[in-house]
Amino acid sequence: MKLRLQVMKFGGTSVGDASCIARTAQIIARAARENGCVAVVSAMSGVTNRLIDAAKNAQAGNSGEAAAVVDALRRQHEAALTNLIQQEEERARVRRKMEEVLAEGRRLWEGTALLRELTPRTLDAISSLGERLSAPLVAGAVRELGTASEAIEATELIVTDTFHGGAEPLMEATREKSQAQLQPLLEKGIVPVVTGFIGATAEGQLTTLGRGGSDYSATILGAAMDADEVIIWTDVDGVLTADPRLVAEARTIPVISYREAAELAYFGAKVLHPKTLNPVVQAAIPVWIRNSFAPERPGTKITPEGRSIGGGVKALTAIRDVTLISVGGPGIVGLPDVLGRTFSTTAEVRANVLLISQSSSQNDICFIVSTGDAQRTVEALRKEFAHDLAHHKVEHITVDSNVAIVAVVGENMRGTPGIAGKTFNALGRENVNLIAIAQGSSESNISFVIEEKAVKTALITTHREFGLDAAPH
Ligand code: ASP
Ligand code: MG
Repeated sequence: MKLRLQVMKFGGTSVGDASCIARTAQIIARAARENGCVAVVSAMSGVTNRLIDAAKNAQAGNSGEAAAVVDALRRQHEAALTNLIQQEEERARVRRKMEEVLAEGRRLWEGTALLRELTPRTLDAISSLGERLSAPLVAGAVRELGTASEAIEATELIVTDTFHGGAEPLMEATREKSQAQLQPLLEKGIVPVVTGFIGATAEGQLTTLGRGGSDYSATILGAAMDADEVIIWTDVDGVLTADPRLVAEARTIPVISYREAAELAYFGAKVLHPKTLNPVVQAAIPVWIRNSFAPERPGTKITPEGRSIGGGVKALTAIRDVTLISVGGPGIVGLPDVLGRTFSTTAEVRANVLLISQSSSQNDICFIVSTGDAQRTVEALRKEFAHDLAHHKVEHITVDSNVAIVAVVGENMRGTPGIAGKTFNALGRENVNLIAIAQGSSESNISFVIEEKAVKTALITTHREFGLDAAPH
């Protein structure tokens, strides 16, 4: 009989220092006693940011940076190593690997400083160093518990396209490579500890899957290995009904559907990378979100169909770092290409459009992008519509960054009348002004744009209105 297989991912905080890694290693070793287990790990928390900052400094010509960062990384990882692994021989084995990675980092920073050029390819190579340092450390900690384990670089497993900084997996090739590399280890009872976040092109060039991409690595490997489940171990109890920093009564949701979880992920509930569920949908592999700091808690199970609850609303979410852009004026009525040109412009500058709303009077089109994308989007739009602006066909392109999106999410909202009414009534009572509203025809998400300072009030009142603070559902 084929052994049950779990793919487990541990985020940056779950490998944040020696004691976190020790806890993580316990979870892995326990799982490996009962199932086949593939672990996927992030960089130690904060490391990826530091690597990228150093790359930017090097690009600015600061050549002293390389030595300083290498030293800091060595100290951090060495401290964990000393704590986790007792025998000098075992330590030396992990240290050798770490030194190789650090030496490579040093060459990358020095090269960047010399050329004052940071290509997406080099940035990927630099960003990947954190996972390449943490995986050997975690594998060492697992061995320390008497469980056979080996660190594996995902460049040997995950084959991607060539889009550096946000590569997409090529699943057929990934499946072939992953099975060929991992199956023999699993059969020998060895736990592979795989670097999250990275892959390689068919030619072997290292790529990254985008920031926060280790979640995605785990589900890619889960699908490639026909795993029975994927567990994302993190530092929160699961998917919550709302952000607990804003809504004290927020609760963990026991079961949620792929679609609901994806809506929440897209809408900034920072639990999952937005693409995480894509690889597992077809094979219907369940994904758990669990707290590595409280492994006794059940967490949230994400399944194809979720579980329906009375009111239909499962959770609320808010995105704050967003900007509202509006293109319009009476002149655009009947100008059929304004919509098309607006969104081909956003696509050209690769701005991620989070919400779109146009009233039927067609007087203006407004949409929301991440604030980080706003400036280049507006500049591109002003260029695209320069002629129309000059001739007053398009009267204005305006920008407002003091806004936020709040979304009410739940798959069974579909066909349940009155949810929008209830939401807007509650907001009205609290004097929250609605700037724009959107509901997709999937009806699993009603989103609205409000002033940023009203977010907390909006969340608290809607959360109560739908009884999300009541018993778990
Ligand atoms: N270390 C990478 C990042 O910080 C990937 C991850 O943690 O998921 O973006
Ligand atoms: Mg993450």
